[in-house]
Amino acid sequence: MSATGLLETIIRHVCTCAADLGLDAETEAALTMPMRELHVSIPVRMDSGKTRVFEGFRVQFNDARGPTKGGIRFHPDESLESIRGLAAIMTWKCALLGLPLGGAKGGVICNPKELSEAELERLSRAYIRAVSRFIGPDEDIPAPDVYTNARVMAWMMDEYSRIAGRNAFGAITGKPLAVWGSEGRVDATARGGWYVVEEAAKDAGIDLARATVAVQGFGNVGSHAARLASVLTGAKVVAVSDSQGGVMNREGLDINRLIEHKHATGEVAGFPGGREMSSSDLLTLDVDLLIPAALENAITEENAGEVRAGIVAEFANGPVAEAAESALEENGVLLLPDILCNGGGVVVSYFEMVQNATLDHWDEAEVDRRLRKQMKDTYHSVHEKALISGTSLRRAAYSIAVSNTLDAMRTRGWV
Ligand code: GLU
Repeated sequence: MSATGLLETIIRHVCTCAADLGLDAETEAALTMPMRELHVSIPVRMDSGKTRVFEGFRVQFNDARGPTKGGIRFHPDESLESIRGLAAIMTWKCALLGLPLGGAKGGVICNPKELSEAELERLSRAYIRAVSRFIGPDEDIPAPDVYTNARVMAWMMDEYSRIAGRNAFGAITGKPLAVWGSEGRVDATARGGWYVVEEAAKDAGIDLARATVAVQGFGNVGSHAARLASVLTGAKVVAVSDSQGGVMNREGLDINRLIEHKHATGEVAGFPGGREMSSSDLLTLDVDLLIPAALENAITEENAGEVRAGIVAEFANGPVAEAAESALEENGVLLLPDILCNGGGVVVSYFEMVQNATLDHWDEAEVDRRLRKQMKDTYHSVHEKALISGTSLRRAAYSIAVSNTLDAMRTRGWV
């Protein structure tokens, strides 16, 4: 995955906090080294009758605050390095949001677009068999991520349950409702992101009802982010892109029709309600809000100087490269960091765990009420910290996350 240096970047954020807190080198090492890593080979019988061996990973980064938590992505460019960085991000995200969870991430090197449904199911189940001894409702709880979804989670939960010899609904989150997924989980990341954007816009004096938006990425996070723009805030989405290209319309795109077009054709390009544009041009459009909602390193040193949005909201994990941040800052761009902005997904995953553990089922309004409060409260604590210490929102967010984790590690006698 295009995650060059992702872990190194996260480590630098943590080391800055460690320096602020006056931590010694050993404590710094305990905060920056992954706790456990699994690298597995996964033989899968393909429809042709031949076996193909896939490579998979699960990295559990830090479990001081609770069982580790994080998604599983299926992507052709996956690597252990990128999963390590993403597992670290999950650790700080969960700690910032005050969840009783640590951080993890998993991945399989594969192109799910080239697999049949039966092959995808066999691969999903085989991955769980390969990592089953290391995961579980009290140890490490996977969830969806790039190119995995609720259906994949259902197969994974079922496979884990078969191995355990009992129903283990709480072993996986992001499940379909029929097997005790949570209401509101599907669009939780996008919804949570908008709750953060709403508060940040208020503080920055930006009226979202008159704002224009560009969304990079049209998977689970990007498509819901685009759809919810008008529902939640009245903001107008003028451009959207996916891995194959983009589409724009200054009058505003009809997102529901665009979602239908993507379902029918597999891409946003060719949508009759707008004109085509490249994904890279989308990033430098003159809009009020830019939402990178795809992969890491979308905004780099090369294009950061050309970003014209007033706010960049990281709905993806790590979409703004470290080297790009100073250029954005110099141009007065307000950057809403990933561990704050895209935490809605894992927050509702946590709600799903609570419901599974208590055999309860909350309605959509209840989930939304709790999510909204959690995201807005967290934004305000980060904003306040940034104001007091005169730092960026990212540095303030890391400072809270690292302190929370350190607190647990010290209390447990680890450092
Ligand atoms: N994959 C999501 C993330 O990156 C959600 C993880 C989860 O729900 O455990 O935050």
